[in-house]
Amino acid sequence: MKEQLGDGYAAFLASYDMAPAKGLRVNRGFISDEDLWALLSVPHEPIAYQEGGYRYLGELGKHPLHQAGAYYLQDPSAMLTANAVDIPRGAWVLDLCAAPGGKSTALAAMVGREGMLVANEIDLGRAKILMGNVERLGLSNVTVTSLSPAKVADLFGGIFDVVVVDAPCSGEGMFRKNPLAVDEWNMDNVAMCAARQLDILREAARCVKEGGKLVYSTCTFAPAEDEDSVRFLVDSGAFEGMMPTERVLAATVTEGEPYCRRFYPHLGEGEGHFVASLRRISPADVPPKCAPKRTLKGEEKRAVEAFFDSVSPGPVDGELCYVNNQICLVRADVPVPPYGVLSAGVKIGELVPGRKGMRLEPHHMAFKCLPFVNRLDLDPSDPRVAGYLHGEEISADVPDGFGVLTVAGCPLGGYKAVDGMLKNRYPKGLRN
Ligand code: SAM
Repeated sequence: MKEQLGDGYAAFLASYDMAPAKGLRVNRGFISDEDLWALLSVPHEPIAYQEGGYRYLGELGKHPLHQAGAYYLQDPSAMLTANAVDIPRGAWVLDLCAAPGGKSTALAAMVGREGMLVANEIDLGRAKILMGNVERLGLSNVTVTSLSPAKVADLFGGIFDVVVVDAPCSGEGMFRKNPLAVDEWNMDNVAMCAARQLDILREAARCVKEGGKLVYSTCTFAPAEDEDSVRFLVDSGAFEGMMPTERVLAATVTEGEPYCRRFYPHLGEGEGHFVASLRRISPADVPPKCAPKRTLKGEEKRAVEAFFDSVSPGPVDGELCYVNNQICLVRADVPVPPYGVLSAGVKIGELVPGRKGMRLEPHHMAFKCLPFVNRLDLDPSDPRVAGYLHGEEISADVPDGFGVLTVAGCPLGGYKAVDGMLKNRYPKGLRN
């Protein structure tokens, strides 16, 4: 670092005596910035390069609004990745190393309902955590997969406008936040990470369409894992380096190639990140291999439509299809791989035998994403919110049937009301 930073080294070293920076992104799909801060009331200031991004002081990890998905906690410097290139609404984006979902949740908000995001995480345990965050934030435009990068490239092909690789790395930018990262650091690990990054990037490159962009990021400062990992794509002639957006340019420095940018903890309030932006200038040659979706027909389709009619009458946008045993509501043009998928679009639930034929047992994500007519809104400080989060039955004067409990308008989870008693549908694994 002394070699790399020269005169800046002393300030870099001194920054490790300071507390880690805390950041969050407001989930504007659920709540406005003003309403959120009126309820959280801790000191905060906006982050210039991230819409709805803030630095804050205090403890916000255990607040009911966090459980309701009103915001996502993220290191401010990690917010650079999703902002490195302009991502228009409607874009098709792949996040290849996605768990726990910091970048994915930002990307999904950027592409909007007209776009789509494939959030992939090779490690199944971590992919489930990613899934939990996608559900918590009620993101209905995401396909969550758990596949190797090679399988992602085989199954989807070169269809993406933007591919993000936030690679596993030696984590030098985690030293202040996580002492374990210091203990685990050594030169062999840097070399091992660098080799793995090349493997991942080779597959990522196959997924970018011609003219599409590839964003590569790490939370480390080692050139062997940063500039050296990404350079081969430019040298191959398939990609060219591109300048990042003005907002990312303003928050970062470069130490050579202008398309490679670093955020240092002594130059800004954040833990540290590297981000490189590239554009594909050669045709993508991988044809996709996604099989047709297993769509619902006949009695099954009617049973789900009857459920929709009873809870949120009105037009339903998308196709009903099976992903594993779960029924998902997915936009018709979104490809779904034949395996390795945790969910696509909105998980609606499962069909079970009922007294009058099949009936739908709704999934938590259905409560988070569908416009249920029956909604009970409570203040975050209402004791019934804490009770609900513990898994208790609560009482309220509401119509019988399925509904959604919201806090400050943000959907926490579902209930089934019978005579003023609300049976708890908050998933057991999420309860306090
Ligand atoms: N993008 C995430 C976020 O913002 O929340 C963080 C991603 S983390 C830096 C890197 C991820 O890559 C880890 O979740 C890790 O499990 C995954 N990973 C590890 N080995 C991998 C491999 N060989 N191919 C693809 N991903 C891998």
